[in-house]
Amino acid sequence: MTPRNTCDLLIQVAMQAEALPIIHLLSLKPIGRLDSNLPSELWRGSILGHQISLVTHGRDSDFDCDRIGTESAAVVAFLALRITRPKLLLNAGTCGGFASQGAAIGDIYMPTRFLFHDQRVALPKFDLFAKGDQTTPDFSQIRSATNAKHGTCSTGSSLDTTVQEMGFFAAESVACKDMEAAAIVRVARDFQTPFVGLKAVTDLVDHHQTVQESFLKNLKFATTRLADAVDRAARAFSLL
Ligand code: SAH
Repeated sequence: MTPRNTCDLLIQVAMQAEALPIIHLLSLKPIGRLDSNLPSELWRGSILGHQISLVTHGRDSDFDCDRIGTESAAVVAFLALRITRPKLLLNAGTCGGFASQGAAIGDIYMPTRFLFHDQRVALPKFDLFAKGDQTTPDFSQIRSATNAKHGTCSTGSSLDTTVQEMGFFAAESVACKDMEAAAIVRVARDFQTPFVGLKAVTDLVDHHQTVQESFLKNLKFATTRLADAVDRAARAFSLL
């Protein structure tokens, strides 16, 4: 590790399609692979004199798609935190929202409570570890700069939702559902690095349109909104 690898703000994004509008808006420059053994890609830039690194999970060469999900989320978070030692880790991405909670497509959430909804281990202590209920501090300047909504985010390894998970979301008042955040929060805690999540709603979990249809239809709109929120968050962060 050399000092030039460090940054002030690290932005972790699972998918390339989510990252590109952010890279464009913040004028970040491609650096290459984060590590020769991983497809994760690194970009760098600066805002108001503060160094920014952005990492994506990269494309899986066997399956020709982005490496979404918790495994890559944890591996990339660990490595990027170790290399860049940021003052803040920002996980930017898309999520499923809930109409019953007042969500609309393109809404931005900045959750401060994170859970796993598909990890069930009915054993003492392991049950709570599996659910992984974690809270993160609120950054009021970032929240007001982005006008992001409050809420609980729940992470799991599937895009769709089971009936049992619907019950979990209602019982835990979950406002957004994704496939990475809770895993990244856990790694950020190990590094004692403050964490902020910004999630743009691409689909409504409790709506009749299928998640896949809505996700693809709304991805561009939601990721444009997401990039704007990340830009505002990065500016608010540099003034902290
Ligand atoms: N169909 C897309 C892949 C979407 S996977 C494609 O072909 O490119 C879903 C990604 O968006 C994950 O990284 C996840 O964090 C986020 N996401 C958006 N809506 C979600 C939902 N309803 N449930 C879980 N994750 C969701």
